[in-house]
Amino acid sequence: MAPLTWLQVGGPAQYCLAPRSADELSRVLKTCHEAQIPVRIMGGGSNLLVRDEGVPGAVIRLTNPAFCSVKVDGNVCTAGAGAALSHVISETIRAGLAGFEVLAGIPGTIGGAIVGNAGGRHGDIGALVTKVVALDFTGSPVQREGDGLMFEYRESAMRDLIILEAVFELQPEPTEEITERLRKIWITKKAVQPLASQSVGCIFKNPRGSSAGELIDKAGLKGTRVGGAEVSDRHANFLVTLPGATSDDVLRLMNLVQTKVEGQFGIRLEPEVQIW
Ligand SMILES: Cc1cc2nc3c(=O)[nH]c(=O)nc-3n(C[C@H](O)[C@H](O)[C@H](O)COP(=O)(O)OP(=O)(O)OC[C@H]3O[C@@H](n4cnc5c(N)ncnc54)[C@H](O)[C@@H]3O)c2cc1C
Repeated sequence: MAPLTWLQVGGPAQYCLAPRSADELSRVLKTCHEAQIPVRIMGGGSNLLVRDEGVPGAVIRLTNPAFCSVKVDGNVCTAGAGAALSHVISETIRAGLAGFEVLAGIPGTIGGAIVGNAGGRHGDIGALVTKVVALDFTGSPVQREGDGLMFEYRESAMRDLIILEAVFELQPEPTEEITERLRKIWITKKAVQPLASQSVGCIFKNPRGSSAGELIDKAGLKGTRVGGAEVSDRHANFLVTLPGATSDDVLRLMNLVQTKVEGQFGIRLEPEVQIW
């Protein structure tokens, strides 16, 4: 799995599948359900830490073009779960629709972004979603809209689903104005985050009312290293991996950060990264 994730660490998956259609995916899910094979769904691997032991069961990737389409109709965008978020940002801006520019610089797919309500200080993807088309883990179709959607800070009510497609309602605005906003957001992000390094973005969630990065920085942990894993000296909530790093290095560094921050401030940091 290492080459498929941004951290570039972790062992193999028992099975790795890329279905060619929603029907095929549904059959895979039914078969796995009946055979009691655990299933995990993977997007762009930009928020994943895979353990060195690897992943038992099946890892499903929605990389086939059947899951990656992006359509714009009026002020509504419909995007496949496997579509790159960056592609949806550029397509909607080109169509003169505002909303997605607040997500500039976030890697990964639409599926990964929705399930973890990706976003930042300018807004979250959840605010744009009006409908999600999905399958449950037995392969049966599910649709969520209105109250069924429920988004919170880096969470959604969709962790028990395999998202296939989502519908977004956006605001018409001249492309140049949206592009200008996107440019500003991108510049600020580039200035504070180690975007060129191997990371998963913020490794811990911000505790209510404070910033995980600030706590880690105040605990004097910037630059701390365990094996090939390091607390970024640019942004303390980014852990980066260096060549030769293992998943265990990252887990031990996360544990050290949690222990030191809790010891000093009495706050237990919760991982934002999904650990498989
Ligand atoms: C440099 C960098 C900067 C980042 N900046 C930000 C930021 O500003 N804000 C932010 O929120 N995040 C940020 N991230 C984290 C990450 O990019 C987001 O969490 C992203 O939305 C994850 O999407 P993904 O497709 O890579 O998901 P993955 O990492 O592949 O998976 C993450 C989770 O989503 C689930 N998932 C993926 N696809 C589906 C699907 N179709 N159906 C159901 N579940 C699915 C997986 O099972 C897993 O639990 C950053 C990461 C990096 C590397």
